[in-house]
Amino acid sequence: MNAMYYDAFEKMPEIRILPDPVPTENGVVIKVEATGLCRSDWHGWMGHDPDIRLPHVPGHELAGTIAAVGRGVLRYKTGDRVTVPFVSGCGRCFECRSGNNQVCEAQFQPGFTHWGSFAEYVAIDFADQNLVHLPEDMDFATAASLGCRFATSFRALVDQARVKGGEWVAVHGCGGVGLSAVMIAAALGANPIAIDISEEKLAFAQKLGAVATINGRATEDVAGAVRDITRGGAHVSLDALGSPVTCFNSIKNQRRRGRHVQVGLMLAEHATPQIPMAQVIGHELEIYGSHGMQAWRYEAMLAMITAGQLKPQELIGRQISLEEAAPALAAMDGATELGISVITRF
Ligand SMILES: [Zn+2]
Ligand SMILES: [Zn+2]
Repeated sequence: MNAMYYDAFEKMPEIRILPDPVPTENGVVIKVEATGLCRSDWHGWMGHDPDIRLPHVPGHELAGTIAAVGRGVLRYKTGDRVTVPFVSGCGRCFECRSGNNQVCEAQFQPGFTHWGSFAEYVAIDFADQNLVHLPEDMDFATAASLGCRFATSFRALVDQARVKGGEWVAVHGCGGVGLSAVMIAAALGANPIAIDISEEKLAFAQKLGAVATINGRATEDVAGAVRDITRGGAHVSLDALGSPVTCFNSIKNQRRRGRHVQVGLMLAEHATPQIPMAQVIGHELEIYGSHGMQAWRYEAMLAMITAGQLKPQELIGRQISLEEAAPALAAMDGATELGISVITRF
């Protein structure tokens, strides 16, 4: 198979012919039809993720058709159209048995703990616990965009922050996670405020339902601006980027008893950000993480998509080839493109 491959961190990935994967007893092999390019892939390539062992094939936001099935798999067969959350649970540990595969103690993450989906084929373990059947009318590029950023935003707002209609939701950073969050918050009847340093991204966020926007480059006190717009602070605030500044602002701009959700990864030199802890205590703020979403919760998200309340297809930016994805991956630390780039040609 063709695959993107690197044997050293920060070295330009190459496209290589590698052996086709074979399924484990409880796993499947998926013919990848679409796979999204994500900032987590860039973190991995930089060497920020201790789960990655070299040489490596990245890629974790995927959709495709099952090409081979292990003997122990009961619920899936060759030819099924599927996607998978980027954190897959083992199905056996305490967290999985209590329904929390997204924090499984023995998690399988394609593109991190194992070789991923920037390839024609990818092996996925624990298939019965983690695969999700795609609705008939959903194209593969849209399905690929769900597995990481969209699902994580959905979980962040619906399950972690428990957003209610009429609440103010501040979204810091309008990459894939942030734009997804704006769309989901608007669909829930909340009032999303989009914050970014790109006017282009803010305009896109407005189209997706942001009721107000703040340009972080042009505004000295972002948290103060959110408090002004919301007359007292956001009920819910998301750091969708993952940086010390956005994390701090996202906590600082809350109203009393507000809920902050950290979705953007904080790695390497950003791993221990400054947090206004006096405010967290005095105002009884809640601080959450959101780490993917367990497969069984996809049903709720897919129902909103099928009903037309959520339109993840609108978040798709460029559709690119595997070859074009290598330089795009290496460039992800800078200003990223509008929307989600998806590899659809292998
Ligand atoms: Zn991702
Ligand atoms: Zn588990």
